[in-house]
Amino acid sequence: MTSEPSAPLPAGAVIGILGGGQLGRMLALAAHRLGLRAHIYAPERDAPAFDVTPLKTVARYDDMVALAKFSEAVAAITWEFENVPAEVAEVHGIARKLRGSSAVVGVAQDRVLEKRFIESCGLAVAPWQAIDSLDDLKISLAAVGSPAVLKTRRLGYDGKGQWLVREGDDLRSVFNGLKGAPAVLESFVAFEREVSVILARGANGATAAFDVTENIHENHILRRSTVPARVSPAVAAAAVEAARDIAERIDYVGVLGVEFFVTGDAERPLLVNEIAPRVHNSGHWTEAAAVTSQFSNHIRAVAGWPLGDPTRFADAEMVNLLGDEVLKASSLQGVSLHLYGKSEVRPGRKMGHTIRLSPLTR
Ligand code: AMP
Repeated sequence: MTSEPSAPLPAGAVIGILGGGQLGRMLALAAHRLGLRAHIYAPERDAPAFDVTPLKTVARYDDMVALAKFSEAVAAITWEFENVPAEVAEVHGIARKLRGSSAVVGVAQDRVLEKRFIESCGLAVAPWQAIDSLDDLKISLAAVGSPAVLKTRRLGYDGKGQWLVREGDDLRSVFNGLKGAPAVLESFVAFEREVSVILARGANGATAAFDVTENIHENHILRRSTVPARVSPAVAAAAVEAARDIAERIDYVGVLGVEFFVTGDAERPLLVNEIAPRVHNSGHWTEAAAVTSQFSNHIRAVAGWPLGDPTRFADAEMVNLLGDEVLKASSLQGVSLHLYGKSEVRPGRKMGHTIRLSPLTR
């Protein structure tokens, strides 16, 4: 199902956002900055996004009555994370108002569907196999090569549900660690670097790509994003083209993040790692270093407005503040500070980020 074309939303119109994390919070702030309003739907009472708008629904994603009421209260609906249960999109009132392609949410939730979809776009991914049994794991390790990365098919993020597997490992105990969850095994990519493209696509099909961003992960969690990425103009152009192809293929409306491994191999310089059909952590620098932020452009797309200018006017480094790093955040100098208002500090939890600007080099 794809979005229903409709007139641009007027001032004061309410955009419904499924999910109440920091991305929902930043989307709500962007909506309010554009004279629109945001209504957050999330199951957690203390969701960070609830702090920035009076319009909220605290309910589970399987609460059909709450979902129907929510859909009546808003002019258009979007989401901040792709693990919203796919059934939500089937609720009649929601389906009519969802902007963007809800089918892509189901695809992005399942690593097997995601890889098949990426390959169907003519793009390369690391060699992979679906894993449903111990035998699959044994055969696949031989096929994709060692070392390899085992990932649960669903509900994996920030490295949760991922294991490095090497030849000689006790595969039975590795397989038991999945606790029956279907998985994929993919070859470990000895990448030169990781980059992402954040691309906005408007309701009229126009696209606006932000400059390619270079990302450093620690323990599978994004730590640092820098622009410009250290890639050749040809690789940067290919990455943007790939993201545009993906967005067009699914008639997507909104901001989409595509993560790539840069391989250093002239024949296959880019492998797609993941698609995130939403605003993306590696695009946070846009709030300080681009004419229009990713959040603003997502809201513009969902509202049926023309996209804003994605031009970057400074080099930038975004650093995530994880866990108790947030405790000393208020004394950080020389950076723009953004905190998410999360009261519970947990190791590795994304609590905020900083952006450091420097003069434009290219
Ligand atoms: P993912 O949740 O799949 O995005 O993985 C999180 C991070 O783990 C990636 O951004 C990489 O840094 C690392 N990673 C995941 N898959 C692979 C792989 N096949 N080869 C090398 N590193 C990987």
